[in-house]
Amino acid sequence: MDIRIDKIRKEFGDFPALHDVSLAIRSGELIALLGPSGSGKTTLLRLVAGLELPSQGRILFGGEDASWKSVQQRHVGFVFQHYALFRHMSVFDNIAFGLKVRPAKDRPPKAEIRRRVEELIDMVQLTGMEKRLPAQLSGGQRQRVALARAMAIEPRVLLLDEPFGALDAKVRKDLRKWLRAFHERTGHTTLFVTHDQEEALELADRVVVMSQGRIEQVGKADDIYDRPQSEFVFSFVGEAAKVPVRVRNGGVEFAGQPLGLAARPDKNQAMLFFRPGDIAVKSEGPALDGRIVAIRRVAGARICEVQLGCETDTHIDIELPLDLAAVPGETVRFLPTRWALF
Ligand code: ATP
Repeated sequence: MDIRIDKIRKEFGDFPALHDVSLAIRSGELIALLGPSGSGKTTLLRLVAGLELPSQGRILFGGEDASWKSVQQRHVGFVFQHYALFRHMSVFDNIAFGLKVRPAKDRPPKAEIRRRVEELIDMVQLTGMEKRLPAQLSGGQRQRVALARAMAIEPRVLLLDEPFGALDAKVRKDLRKWLRAFHERTGHTTLFVTHDQEEALELADRVVVMSQGRIEQVGKADDIYDRPQSEFVFSFVGEAAKVPVRVRNGGVEFAGQPLGLAARPDKNQAMLFFRPGDIAVKSEGPALDGRIVAIRRVAGARICEVQLGCETDTHIDIELPLDLAAVPGETVRFLPTRWALF
């Protein structure tokens, strides 16, 4: 089922939680909505689910206007962070619930419900646990029951709000892999909300980065990480070094010195952004001069905090090659190899 979100605006009282949001999702895509707290991710998910109605704009399911349809009519399955399983029901009954409560005319026969639930239990790898109660499962297992329950109604679209939010890091990683494989097998159009960039970049076909009720950028993990299109995306996804510069005579200047980086148009104030690892040490020619203030080892890399220039208080992190001697107090000269100006 493809979904089109068309110029959606959502206000709560006077407060606009979403401004003019548009997004086309292809059938079978796995999409992550990524952004800081309050950016509007959950509101957008709830609008797609039919749990909220838009103040303006439309939501189309397979070309058909679904904006005013109920949750049931939209046929969506959802899973929220605090997987509200029915505590007194077994794994089997939890998963079967959505089918059992259907009105008689839409309810599949008992044997068919059993067949479908067993298939789902197998799919979420909980065979042998069908009689257990939620309290007798681990967090990750409960989350898989919640997913199976959402899938049982054969939704056209699967919506997940921070599905792994309450779990510890190791379980989150396992479930991430599992969800990717699960998605590949079932092929449902899936939207999930997360504020964890690693989760979004690793799992999704495309990532939608949101900030303050707007979409900042939509793209594959590589686009978002390697070609961020705004200051916000550059800083929010991955690490960023930021240097206040000026653009003059077609080139970037720091503290009055040209750096030999071409740019236009001229701007009195701009911000030069680059990843800490995207630098080359320079022995001659124009470069940024920095005094090493501190050195830290982060996994396989050596990160140096440097203070730029002599009279500036610009501190940035850069990653220096491990074979280069680096001592606090010494000066290092370098230039970004990949950069953006905002
Ligand atoms: P989080 O990661 O913290 O869940 P989010 O990106 O999902 O954040 P939303 O829950 O969509 O953000 O909220 C977006 C904005 O809308 C926030 O400023 C929030 O306070 C506001 N908001 C959300 N729901 C309501 C509501 N029912 N009434 C009033 N304001 C709301």
